Amino acid sequence: MKSSPGSLLISLGALVLSYAGIRVGCLPDPFAGAGIPLEIVFNELLAKNQGPAYAACRMFPNKNSQPGQPRITGHVLFKQLDPKSGVEGYFNLQGFPSSSIKHPMHVHELGSVWDSCESTGKHYNPFNTNHPNHPGDFNNFEVTGGKIVKRLTGLKVTLFGINSILSRGVVLHNGVDDLGQGGDSGSLQDGNSGRPIACCVIRVNLIVKHMHLLLEIYPFAD
Ligand SMILES: [Zn+2]
Repeated sequence: MKSSPGSLLISLGALVLSYAGIRVGCLPDPFAGAGIPLEIVFNELLAKNQGPAYAACRMFPNKNSQPGQPRITGHVLFKQLDPKSGVEGYFNLQGFPSSSIKHPMHVHELGSVWDSCESTGKHYNPFNTNHPNHPGDFNNFEVTGGKIVKRLTGLKVTLFGINSILSRGVVLHNGVDDLGQGGDSGSLQDGNSGRPIACCVIRVNLIVKHMHLLLEIYPFAD
């Protein structure tokens, strides 16, 4: 599929609108199987430009949540200067009960979240390794004052190429990740992290390019 400059601009606009939560009906559904997903088109452009790349994931509560589960919302932002650099991650979530101490987040293989977070499949595992060695095993985050606010550097995921995490899911779980030390198969698969309580889809996002503005809004801890 060839993209004219005009259609590229429309696609770019659609991605920005998509970030703002606005569906654009006339554009192809990236998951419909017809045409090239927009994320792949942009990923190819990013690869040619050698970065930097920016992505965002807007976290929403699991539609399949049990009654009484906390309603977690927020953002996970990613920045990668070029394909060989580590990824910076900015995690800012709120809505945790005061009893929460820590919860894990991981990249899951599918960016399918419309029916429930369970549709995101297993941990993204392109190199066929055990947990917690999957590239998107971000593991446990401390909850302080009902929030997770954390900046991590050197994450082993990538926004470029065939192993890109673009269009995949980030899932927050209700348990605690045992980091593969649980002594059972579940531990080596997902750290026995429990049910998903919130999730999101990782999207290319040029708004995140203005990271300095976001950093003024969100006091990310080091
Ligand atoms: Zn894992």
